[in-house]
Amino acid sequence: MGDRTGKVVVVTGGASGVGAALVRRLADEGATVVAADVDEGGLAGLAAGSGADPVRLDVADADEWEEALASVVDRHGGLDAVCLNAGVMTRPRGVAMDDDPIDWMRRRYRQLVSVNIDGVVFGVLAALPHLEARGRGSIVVTASVAGLMAQPPDPTYAMSKHAVIGFVRSMGPALAARGVSINAVCPGGVDTPLVPPDYRAMARDFAPPEHIADAIIGVLDSDDTGGVWVAYAPEQPVWRYEFADCRHGPPG
Ligand code: NAD
Repeated sequence: MGDRTGKVVVVTGGASGVGAALVRRLADEGATVVAADVDEGGLAGLAAGSGADPVRLDVADADEWEEALASVVDRHGGLDAVCLNAGVMTRPRGVAMDDDPIDWMRRRYRQLVSVNIDGVVFGVLAALPHLEARGRGSIVVTASVAGLMAQPPDPTYAMSKHAVIGFVRSMGPALAARGVSINAVCPGGVDTPLVPPDYRAMARDFAPPEHIADAIIGVLDSDDTGGVWVAYAPEQPVWRYEFADCRHGPPG
């Protein structure tokens, strides 16, 4: 366990699942943790148990990002790291994965894109000046293995995770020049309320959210940037995913 005393970390989607596990871990290590979410009830419960600073933030709203981070810096004196972890699936929580995805795409596409893609881009843009002001900083995006392979039960979710992986890989050099790292962590199945109930019921190798939180913290502390890291169940190592180099023609 590291000592993060004096470090200020913002975690989005901090009220539940992976985000809540991250908030607890980072707070246990002495960090000042800001748990940001739209679920104010969930935030209140978490804050009481962890000492985190709860902030209502809709990650899909660029103005809310600017205001929230300015207020974090006012209250806590700076910003050292951001975990861009909030996410939704195309179907709302509680709807079975075997339910036809097409109708949910029609109803929820804009919301999915605004949380899973805008929420990451707006978060990076809002955090950057504050991280630069510290002289260094780290950003980790919670993507998914659905961003590395096809996921036919939820094509638009897979699309959104492919998008943020492309963004992270491409932003690495630009942010490195400013002293800020950015990486993505791609969990496999994680035992959280996001997972449709039929999937959750048959899951055997889902990771506990604490394992993914540890993987994210490991990447947050690493010297990597523009990297994509895969985290399945605790028995497997967290590994850096390598993409084929197709700049000059077919790989190999
Ligand atoms: P979760 O549903 O338990 O937590 C997600 C949190 O995001 C919730 O607290 C929710 O209120 C919050 N959120 C939703 N919309 C928001 C918004 N507009 N602004 C701020 N917060 C918002 O899910 P989880 O499994 O902990 O998911 C965390 C991340 O992990 C997501 O990005 C998800 O895509 C990713 N992921 C999850 C799994 C899995 O199997 N659970 C697998 C791979 C990747």
